[in-house]
Amino acid sequence: MTVVMQDFPLTVDKIIDHAAKYHPNRKLVSRSVEGPITETNWLNVRNQAKKLSQGLISLGVRPGNVIGVMAWNTSRHFEVWYGVPGAGAVNHTLNPRLFAEQLIYIINHAEDRILLIDFDLVPIIEGIWDKLETVENVIVMTDREHMPESSIPNLICYEELLAKQDGIFDWVAVDENSPCGICYTSGTTGDPKGVVYTHRSNTLHALTCSSPDMLGLSSNDTVMPVVPLFHANGWSIGYTAPMIGSSMVMPGRDMTSEGLYEMLNFGVTFTAAVPTIWMLMLQHLKAKNLELPTLERVIIGGASCPRAVIETFQNDYGVQVLHAWGMTEMSPLGTVCTFKPEVTALDDAGRLDAQGTTGHPPFSVDLRITDDNGAEQPWDGETSGKLWAKGAAVVQRYLKHDSDAVDKDGWFDTGDVATINPDGYVRITDRSKDVIKSGGEWISSIALENAAVAHPQVAEAAAIGIPHPKWDERPILVVVPIDGPKPDPREILDLVAEHFAKWQIPDDVVFVSELPHTATGKISKLELRKILTAQGYKLPQ
Ligand code: ADP
Repeated sequence: MTVVMQDFPLTVDKIIDHAAKYHPNRKLVSRSVEGPITETNWLNVRNQAKKLSQGLISLGVRPGNVIGVMAWNTSRHFEVWYGVPGAGAVNHTLNPRLFAEQLIYIINHAEDRILLIDFDLVPIIEGIWDKLETVENVIVMTDREHMPESSIPNLICYEELLAKQDGIFDWVAVDENSPCGICYTSGTTGDPKGVVYTHRSNTLHALTCSSPDMLGLSSNDTVMPVVPLFHANGWSIGYTAPMIGSSMVMPGRDMTSEGLYEMLNFGVTFTAAVPTIWMLMLQHLKAKNLELPTLERVIIGGASCPRAVIETFQNDYGVQVLHAWGMTEMSPLGTVCTFKPEVTALDDAGRLDAQGTTGHPPFSVDLRITDDNGAEQPWDGETSGKLWAKGAAVVQRYLKHDSDAVDKDGWFDTGDVATINPDGYVRITDRSKDVIKSGGEWISSIALENAAVAHPQVAEAAAIGIPHPKWDERPILVVVPIDGPKPDPREILDLVAEHFAKWQIPDDVVFVSELPHTATGKISKLELRKILTAQGYKLPQ
C-alpha cells in the first residue's frame, strides 16, 4: 500500500513555531533576574530563540553537543529552552541547589561544551570552574550592564551574542529520535543518573500532558510554573504551554510566598509546584487575609500532597487541586488526579479521598504493581507493590550506562511502592528504600506523614523506620512544629490512630527545628537517619 500520510518529524522546534504562528500575542510576564518585571510574547521568544541558535552555531556548536543551562524561570529561559535544541544541541538542565561535587560530576559526565547561566549564578560556576573538563565557553544570560566581574575567562554576554545575529535561520534539522534534553536524577544514593529526552519523547509527552485529564490547558489559560524548568523536565510545562498557546507568568528566582503571590496576580489561572511551596503560600494567604481571584487549578506533585492543602485550596479559595505523580525518568508525568465518572459520582468526602491518590495514567503511560518476586498484584486499592512503568516518554537506558534500565519485558522499576484501586487510581505509599517494615508487614511512611501534618501545629513530618530487635523496624515520627507552642505528641499520635492499626502507630515523636532536604526540596530520609544515628537516638523501651 502507498504511504498516504505526511512524514512530520516530532521535533520541538515545531512547538515554538506553532506558538509563534498561531498564538503570537500571548503574553509572557516575567520577574527578571535583574529585578524588573518584563513582558514579551511567543513570537518574540521564537525570534530570540532563533538568534540564540545562530549564536551557538557561531561558537562552534554542532548537532548533538550538550549545553548546560542553569537558570531561573524567566522568559529568557524559554528562549534557551528552544534556542538550544533549535541548533541541534541538547539542553542539559542544571539545578543550582546541587552540591558542588554533583554539579561537577554531571557537567563532566554529560560533556557540556557551553554553559548558559543566569548572572547571579556565576559564583557557583566560578567555584567549580577548575574542575570542569569539557566546558569551552560560559554565556551569561543578561545584558552588558549586568555582566559580573569574574575569574572565569572570556564570559560571553547573552544579549550581545543575540544582538549580533539576524534571526534569519532555519532550525537545524534533526531526527525526531535524537536527543533534545538531559536531566539528572538527584542521586541521593550513588552518582546522579542522566535521563536523555528525545525530540519525539518530549513532543509526545507534551501532547499527552495537554489533554483534559492531564493538565487540561488551553490558550485561555495563564500558566505560572513555580516548579523550576530544571526540575524533572520542568514537568513538561515548557513544551505543553506553548504547544497550547497559553499565556505565561514566570516567577524568576523569588520563591517567597510574597513574591509568588505578586506574580499570581498577573491573571494566573494555572500553576504548578511541590507541596511545601503551597503549604507556605496557604499560611501566607491566611495570615494576610488574601484572596486568589484568578487562580483556577494548581497541579501539585513531586511529593505527596497533604489532604489539608487540597481541602484548603478547594474549600477556602475555590482552586481545584490536581495531585500528580511523576519522576525525572518519566519526562516526568505518570498520573494526574482528575475525576473519572466513578469519582465524580462520589460525595465531597469521597472525592477528597480520591484526591489523596495521585490519579490515573494517560494514554502512552502503562503501569503495574508487583510483589518482590515479580508477581502482579491486584488492583484492590489495598495491596501495595513495586510500581513499574512503560511508555513513550519513559527512560530506556541512562546516559552512558552499559545496560538498560528496564527488565526483559521493558518495564522500568520506578522505585516507588503503590496501591492501585479498581478504577485505576494510583496511591503512592512509599519509596522502596523508605518503606518501614515491621513484623514482616509494610507501613506506609507517606500515609503516616500525611496523618501527622493534619495536626494544626505540625509544619512538616517524616516517618522513618528504626531498627528493632524483635520487629525488624519500628516507625517513629520526626516532626517540625510550626512557630508557637510545641504540639503534644499524644495528640499527633491520636490523629494517626484514626487511620492506622495499633501496631502501625509510631513508637515515638521526635521534635526537630528542621528536616534535611534534597536539592529538589524533598525530605532526605537517608540524611535524617544519619543525623539521628549520630545523635545516638534510641527507641523508647
Ligand atoms: P528528585 O528526587 O530529584 O526530585 P524526581 O522528581 O524524579 O526527582 O522524583 C520522583 C519521585 O518523587 C517519585 O519517584 C516519587 O517517589 C516522588 N513523588 C513524586 N510525586 C509524588 C506524589 N504525588 N506523591 C508521593 N511521591 C511522589
